Amino acid sequence: MRVMTNEAVISLEDIRCVSVSCLNCKTKVLLDLREKSDHADRYGLTLPGECPVCRKPYDSALNGALTSLQVAYDAVRVIENRLSFRGDAG
Ligand SMILES: [Zn+2]
Repeated sequence: MRVMTNEAVISLEDIRCVSVSCLNCKTKVLLDLREKSDHADRYGLTLPGECPVCRKPYDSALNGALTSLQVAYDAVRVIENRLSFRGDAG
């Protein structure tokens, strides 16, 4: 158990998207976990091959991690009204 004095709480019901930052230019790409595009539905949650702003290729490990995140997200949505995430708000 962990006690946080200044915590941020977000319900799973309120989590819809995940953003991924480019390591080079810090541009964030937003991916919808809840309403998947046709491409995401067919191939899984994936990033384009490169950052849309600086054109630097993304780390190849990102897509595997995003696919795992989508699988986990879909699995816990059946109990989303009972789950919340907590973090230290600083
Ligand atoms: Zn970039």
